[in-house]
Amino acid sequence: MSKQTHSFQAEVAQLLHLVTHSLYSNPEIFLRELISNASDACDKLRFEALNDSSLYGDQPNLEVRLSFDKDARTITITDTGIGMSQQEAIDHLGTIAKSGTKAFMERLSGDQKADAQLIGQFGVGFYSGFIVADRITVESRRAGLPETEAVRWTSNGTGDFSVETITRKERGTSVILHLREDQQEFLSAWKLKSLVSKYSDHISLPILMEKEEWKDGEKEGEPGGMVKTGEWETVNKASALWTRPKKDITTEQYQEFYKSISHDYENPLAWAHNRVEGNTEYTQLLYIPAKAPFDLYTRDKRAGVKLYVKRVFIMDDAEALLPQYLRFVKGVIDSNDLPLNVSRELLQESRDVRLIRDGSVKRVLSMLEDLAKHDRHEAATEGADGVTDVVSEEDKAKEGKYTQFYAEFGAVLKEGLGEDFANRERIARLLRFASTNSDAPTVSLADYKARMKEGQEAIYYITAETLAAAKNSPQLEVFKKKGIEVLLMTDRVDEWALNYLHEFDGTPLQSVARGAIDLGKLQDEEEKKAAEEAAEAFKPLLAKLKEALKDKAEDVRVTARLVDSPACLVVKDGDMSSQMARLLRQAGQSVPVSKPVLEVNPEHPLVKKLDGSVHFNDLAHILFDQALLAEGGQLEDPAAYVKRVNALLA
Ligand code: ADP
Repeated sequence: MSKQTHSFQAEVAQLLHLVTHSLYSNPEIFLRELISNASDACDKLRFEALNDSSLYGDQPNLEVRLSFDKDARTITITDTGIGMSQQEAIDHLGTIAKSGTKAFMERLSGDQKADAQLIGQFGVGFYSGFIVADRITVESRRAGLPETEAVRWTSNGTGDFSVETITRKERGTSVILHLREDQQEFLSAWKLKSLVSKYSDHISLPILMEKEEWKDGEKEGEPGGMVKTGEWETVNKASALWTRPKKDITTEQYQEFYKSISHDYENPLAWAHNRVEGNTEYTQLLYIPAKAPFDLYTRDKRAGVKLYVKRVFIMDDAEALLPQYLRFVKGVIDSNDLPLNVSRELLQESRDVRLIRDGSVKRVLSMLEDLAKHDRHEAATEGADGVTDVVSEEDKAKEGKYTQFYAEFGAVLKEGLGEDFANRERIARLLRFASTNSDAPTVSLADYKARMKEGQEAIYYITAETLAAAKNSPQLEVFKKKGIEVLLMTDRVDEWALNYLHEFDGTPLQSVARGAIDLGKLQDEEEKKAAEEAAEAFKPLLAKLKEALKDKAEDVRVTARLVDSPACLVVKDGDMSSQMARLLRQAGQSVPVSKPVLEVNPEHPLVKKLDGSVHFNDLAHILFDQALLAEGGQLEDPAAYVKRVNALLA
């Protein structure tokens, strides 16, 4: 193939621009990213070679070599991994395969500070090389391909790149960075070594650098200098981090390991590292990120946990290892018992995998419980006994983290109610909601229960599209009047998730917009009597309303829910809530038609006026339509509504 020029996919060009303009303040991360790619490439070869050992050819070693050339101003990172064919170089280094990339790019504002925050959610990878280099050359030969079918890829990181066929003796890839004028500080063995130990110590492959030694000047008076000796030495620990004892690993090392497996830019919120022995033996190192990735909600998002078997990398999208609702977790699981040639199908069925999965879910949930427990400390300063609790530094560091976690991943965690029956109670305990007591989503179900009114028999909640709509919903009126707290749910997933949570700790959950409201012991005798009398006295009027609205309402009845509003709509027990129906319709799904129940407030002047009114029919329809509007619904025939209101106004 003679030299060809290709344009970058539009998203790559955008990403490149963003990377070089927003990450220049932290240029050194390029080394972590490129070594991490080199290590992945070696992992992939090892995995493919399980079935075809000829892929190793005459180079059995898997390693990374790091070198620099002061005169040419280059840094080269060479691995003996899987390599790339010509087409792979074009595809992998010229396009971004991640789904959702386009949508992510559209969110960028052009404001460099704000966008630099976002880039962390994306992961920079290979393109981070352009922070320090104004040209990158990649030379690569895919394992199994002949020497004459290697590829050279070159780009200056703006609009396009070129590829040509070359001959390359070694399998694997060399990434050659031609450093920018102002990035010469990286051309030093000392600097590179210190970056390797900072960022890549935990990589399980050896990272080699050529030894240097001091040489005096040739002649008297000429300066001496460091010269290369031709001997290579390993400059990292070269043992996988998770295999080392906990006590030998520093916080920084845990954090760096996280960043290199996740390509995240920020430190994680928490992690758990354990060796599990028992029915099956494995090591888990699981992290909770601080920020949601851009593709948290794309359907084919890759799972974040890498599976190893006896230190050998097997796959990094092993969905079987954690349920969907924990898809934000990153980390490594290394099993001692699974076979090395484990396939995806086998993973689904393996008993060992089931045990690992159960164990990992438990571990993540207890990590979250621990964060939740230490989220707020103001209560822990002085106990009732007058003794002031001392909060350890470690616990103090956890302050506020659960709130942060919940803002990023709370909605995903809720999916667990429907997905993980075995842990439903634990998940429910971890949920937080806004309520009529708190606009911020900080109320746990346990907090709510502890505040329940004497005689209150249910945990009340309402679902709506926005917090304002929930707070101002007419359905809340009687609860406000009686000072009963109601949970306000505005996440899209709430409605669905709540279907799976009928009770919490023995107390039923009850939507205030569903079924006949039974305030039970919260209503006193007098109120009950008044309600019964009203129902009796209103019977003829209700019958008339029912007739007038027979196309719209399933039933019409008097209500105990309302104080200030004339009417509201409720759904029958067992029917889909109107909020859910709206969401499904928006998503383009067909929804079974079920008519709501209209409840009227017998105390309201408008309702009182109905009886005997010459405008009865118009008023009845207005009452219904207003109730629908008040809960955020859409009128079927807005023009007819306007006409009726105008007729009455005139
Ligand atoms: P990511 O690693 O997140 O997929 P990168 O932009 O870092 O994204 O790399 C893009 C792709 O290029 C990788 O997925 C891989 O297929 C390929 N690649 C990068 N570096 C190497 C390498 N050293 N050896 C083989 N393939 C590589």
